[in-house]
Amino acid sequence: MSLEAVPENSQAYRDSISLVDQKTGDRAWVYPKKPKGNLYTGRTWFSVFLMALMFSGPFIKLNEHPILLLNILQRKFIILGMAFWPQDLPLFALLMLTFVVFIMVFTVLFGRLWCGWACPQTIFMEMLFRKIEYFIEGDYKQQLKLDDAPWNTSKIFKKTIKHILFYILSVAIANTFLAYLIGVDEVKKLVTDGPSEHIGQFVALVIFSTVFYFVFSKFREIVCIVICPYGRLQGLMLDKNSIVVAYDFVRGEPRGIHKKDVENNLGDCVDCKRCVHVCPTGIDIRNGTQLECVNCTACIDECNDVMTHINKPKGLIRYASQEQISNGSSKRITYRSGAYIAILTILVSLLSYLIITRKDVTTDVLRTPGMLYQQQDNDRVSNMYNFEVVNKTFNTQHIEVKMKNPQEAELKMVDRESPKMELDENALVKGSFFIIIPKNKIKKNNSEVIIEVYSNGKLMNQITTNFVGPVQM
Ligand code: SF4
Ligand code: SF4
Repeated sequence: MSLEAVPENSQAYRDSISLVDQKTGDRAWVYPKKPKGNLYTGRTWFSVFLMALMFSGPFIKLNEHPILLLNILQRKFIILGMAFWPQDLPLFALLMLTFVVFIMVFTVLFGRLWCGWACPQTIFMEMLFRKIEYFIEGDYKQQLKLDDAPWNTSKIFKKTIKHILFYILSVAIANTFLAYLIGVDEVKKLVTDGPSEHIGQFVALVIFSTVFYFVFSKFREIVCIVICPYGRLQGLMLDKNSIVVAYDFVRGEPRGIHKKDVENNLGDCVDCKRCVHVCPTGIDIRNGTQLECVNCTACIDECNDVMTHINKPKGLIRYASQEQISNGSSKRITYRSGAYIAILTILVSLLSYLIITRKDVTTDVLRTPGMLYQQQDNDRVSNMYNFEVVNKTFNTQHIEVKMKNPQEAELKMVDRESPKMELDENALVKGSFFIIIPKNKIKKNNSEVIIEVYSNGKLMNQITTNFVGPVQM
């Protein structure tokens, strides 16, 4: 938002961040008011849906395999039931690139909608941990009072119960997180066999649980403001046409307390500061769009309530772009966002094509480097080739390598009897073979030969390579 958008005396906020106490330099603990309103209710139900999806995700299987597994240690990735192996690195990299561009397009158009509505950090913080805190310690004023009070029995009891519940929740989240990394069956084994049998996984679980506990009990908004790379990049991605949670300064300023039956030239903002009290990152949205704003919409609900009470239209704080507020513009797609959308469309098309045409079995064949050709008995010539066959499925594949062209050619394996082989899930087999051709059939010094690879009787790959030999005069 432009500097002119806010009153002159409020520019001081640009010199500090809400996390730091200006007098002491210590962390300024944020005590947000308990939110309520239509958007908060909507977010609560949406969060319930997302949490149900997230906690049940590791148990949902497609063809006996998880729908999402990101096993970095074993380099095994399953996305929507489709397995990606290390050999799929280019495809996986393209998938990640597409995802990043999608996030950019989404952010340019809709700001931090993701942060407020779908980010696990916001969902767990606002919908689980914060609700527990409100339930045990009360609303923000009671929390402030409790923290200022001496350590008596009631305070010790409340704090202990709260932190025990926080840690239990952190363990549940860590278990779910681990299940997405190593699979739910491995996590079940850890639970049933006991930690001593799986010491590495147990240590990982304790580390994850402790990290989550500190994230939600101590770090909180620091994660969104300082640590999260997506949050840090907002300044680069947002523009004047991005839809964000915005204060309508045209309508709201000059702000001030409206006295009953007294004429004034004040705007609609009554300077009640309820939008500031409810903010989980401790900012004043009336200062304009700020890095700290996670678009949680709590201030919209709070201000709408105020507007209802003073008989003014709702929406003094609302989802809007700076251009919409300043000039009433409804333009959404700019050259920049249009370019992003075009790039995203190309990437999605390419990715779809690669996924649709992706083969269950892939084969690479290369003439063995450093070798020309060999004279064989019966007036024949051979070339040697190296091959690599990869099974990308979860099932055993029966592979057979056959000669297609020229028909007189013979394919002879070097290190095995038969060109038939069995490949387990994600197995890879390497080897060498000769292609042997009668001399009188060689018409060129460098001719094309075609090899076919069948999997479970179905043609999977047809490979064209070169054959080098002496031409008969
Ligand atoms: S809640 Fe609305 S009226 Fe109250 S200070 Fe914030 S913007 Fe102004
Ligand atoms: S300014 Fe409003 S939308 Fe942004 S974080 Fe604070 S309460 Fe949420």
